[in-house]
Amino acid sequence: MAARMARDQMTRKEIIKESRHWLDLISARKITRYQRRKIVRETIGNFDSYYNKGFLEYRKSMTEAGEFAAVEWTGRGSYFTDILGRRYLDCLGGYGIYSAGIRHPTVIKAVQHQLERMPLSSQELLDPLRGALGELLGEIAPGDLQKCFFISNGTDAVEGAMKLARLYTKKSGFISCLRGFHGKSYGSLSLMGKSEYRVDFEPLLQDVYFVPFGDATAVAMELEKAAAVGLDIAGVVVEPIQGEAGAIVPPDDYWPRLREICTRFNVLLIADEVQTGMGRTGKLFGVEHWDVVPDIMCLGKALGGGVMPLSAFISTPEIWGVLEGNPFIHSSTFGGNPLACAAGIAAIYVTFAEDLPGRAAKSGEYLMEKLREIQARHSDVLVEVRGKGLLIGLEFVTSEFGYSVAAGLFRRGVLVAGTLLNAKTLRVEPALNISKKEMNELLEKLDDTLDDLS
Ligand code: PLP
Repeated sequence: MAARMARDQMTRKEIIKESRHWLDLISARKITRYQRRKIVRETIGNFDSYYNKGFLEYRKSMTEAGEFAAVEWTGRGSYFTDILGRRYLDCLGGYGIYSAGIRHPTVIKAVQHQLERMPLSSQELLDPLRGALGELLGEIAPGDLQKCFFISNGTDAVEGAMKLARLYTKKSGFISCLRGFHGKSYGSLSLMGKSEYRVDFEPLLQDVYFVPFGDATAVAMELEKAAAVGLDIAGVVVEPIQGEAGAIVPPDDYWPRLREICTRFNVLLIADEVQTGMGRTGKLFGVEHWDVVPDIMCLGKALGGGVMPLSAFISTPEIWGVLEGNPFIHSSTFGGNPLACAAGIAAIYVTFAEDLPGRAAKSGEYLMEKLREIQARHSDVLVEVRGKGLLIGLEFVTSEFGYSVAAGLFRRGVLVAGTLLNAKTLRVEPALNISKKEMNELLEKLDDTLDDLS
């Protein structure tokens, strides 16, 4: 390895000055135009030198003018505003975190109040909000799913689910789906259904077997094969609707058949609802479209109300028993902290009080119908409109064309983006309380963009 070069680093005084500069900006009531332009320059410079300049290149490719992305500053509901004051309709929803919209006042208030009382926990005493959120989740979860553990990211929820499945079944293998996405830490990455993200980190978990999504027979055949050669499978991990693959909806008999097959082969059915949960697809949980109760369910993204990072995995009292002998067998310093739990309690309140799943179902129907009308006018480039509720994918003829559409929409003040595993597909994942006027804005601007590109 080459010798590492010494570099000039900031002095103590400069560090204090730089951090004070940002603290002043964070708390500033008013920022001048000069300061705003300076923030853009500083942000680009910081990403370039200290974070990952790949993001700058990626965002550059997303704007036809080759400009860098807007520097985001604030937002409310379905809109966010960049530092230069440009307003964007958010149809990406932070990849699914903003189901309640940006800065929902109920969630913000809960977190602000909890911040004043106790932001993080001692880890030793009992934290009432952790218990309260556990109760609420246990009460809203399907069937006998009742006991849960809190962490911060979707990938943490999947890691926990995998450990729980191994612990309970005393088996080690998993079945996952091609083009499935479950996160990027080592366990969840082992389930990654697109090799591009996996190969550079191999060897990962060795006993993971991939089958096509939507094909229950393939799962049964894989389990039969595994049994024949003495491989032990602990669980089958599946998204109710594949999100990052581009909003792929399985056949209606898929989930009921998965349930029957997993029971028959005595393996756990693990539903990854990180993206589909909390109303996104028009039901509180995606599996409810097919009345299926999995053995373990993973939640994340919108669970924190779009304000705090929060995720969870939840299972039955019977399965959970294996974690109770030694409650430290799986732990997390920040998991289930009071701020995140306050946000989670508020998110559940808002989801129910505002009937976000019902609104997602209704708005999804409207949007999908109108999008299909646009597709009929642009069928040469817009190949498919699919999804459920407000998890919608627009598949274009090529990735390049998809990028051009995203760039065209961005220039018109609408944010959408491709999905991680399918670059031809743009995702439309707005707040579940998006208004008809806002949906019409998206539709008009999409139509205009496609007219322009045709
Ligand atoms: N599972 C699913 C279904 C996801 O869509 C994602 C993220 O997109 C994850 C897990 C990983 O979540 P995170 O990025 O919060 O780790």
